[in-house]
Amino acid sequence: MNYSRQREAVYTVLRSTKDHPCAEWIFCECQKLIPDIGLATVYRNLDQLVAAGKAIKVPVGQDRYRYDADTSLHCHGACPVCGSVWDEDISPSLLRSLDKESAEKGSESYSLTFFRVCGECKAKQSQ
Ligand SMILES: [Zn+2]
Ligand SMILES: [Zn+2]
Repeated sequence: MNYSRQREAVYTVLRSTKDHPCAEWIFCECQKLIPDIGLATVYRNLDQLVAAGKAIKVPVGQDRYRYDADTSLHCHGACPVCGSVWDEDISPSLLRSLDKESAEKGSESYSLTFFRVCGECKAKQSQ
């Protein structure tokens, strides 16, 4: 099995969506490209993409992560009900301050996630 082909498949799948997918979803999509790919392989390749700066890992609660091929400076919103994750618009000045603070502390990375019930779940709750 060609390892770079597996990584390419993982990266292709991740780049194909803006939904900030979880590893299991990426695994299902990768199986369409490489039927015998394993979940552990997908996890390993995701970690390698993150380490290589090609993807970011978004923490969304206890030991749960979502992945994003958009490595530009941005923050996320996450719904505690359905678990969906989206790119959150926050003020550019706050983003710059966070980046400065992070650099001054010598952080390798940082992440800021706003947890709030998404529009769809709100609509369902009010039904
Ligand atoms: Zn929701
Ligand atoms: Zn994002």
